[in-house]
Amino acid sequence: MAILNIVKEGDPLLRKTSRPVTEITPRILTLLDDMVDTMHRANGCGLAAVQVGVLRRVVVIEVEEGVVYEMINPRIVAYAGRQEEVEGCLSVPGRSGYTTRPSAVTVRYTDRTGEERELRGKDLLARAICHECDHLDGKLFIDKDIFVREYEDEE
Ligand code: ZN
Repeated sequence: MAILNIVKEGDPLLRKTSRPVTEITPRILTLLDDMVDTMHRANGCGLAAVQVGVLRRVVVIEVEEGVVYEMINPRIVAYAGRQEEVEGCLSVPGRSGYTTRPSAVTVRYTDRTGEERELRGKDLLARAICHECDHLDGKLFIDKDIFVREYEDEE
């Protein structure tokens, strides 16, 4: 296992579209392990492979401590509701702001054993799923169609 370097905003890599995983190789499993380690080290609640320099459709999410989702080729198949909440990104350090997201989503993905799974997430989990899936298409939370306004700490 290893802690990987996180690509920061401004790097053109973050704007690229990631390619689907066609076969779950040992390399993909190592990538998942390293991404979870890297997310933990950085105190994040999600990470996409592109953020560690790998253009593959792989994300990890942990919004509830100890509950880690490892998603290969995730795609959101249903949306419901709307939420406006504060969001940040390990690739956009020092910046956070309100975004508009669905309040619930259903995502389908392949897990590390090759099994197809479906997960319905609400609130923070829904936001994290949207945020990480956006990374796979080269989008960031600060993009105009998602970003509402900058967050400022209140005294
Ligand atoms: Zn992010």
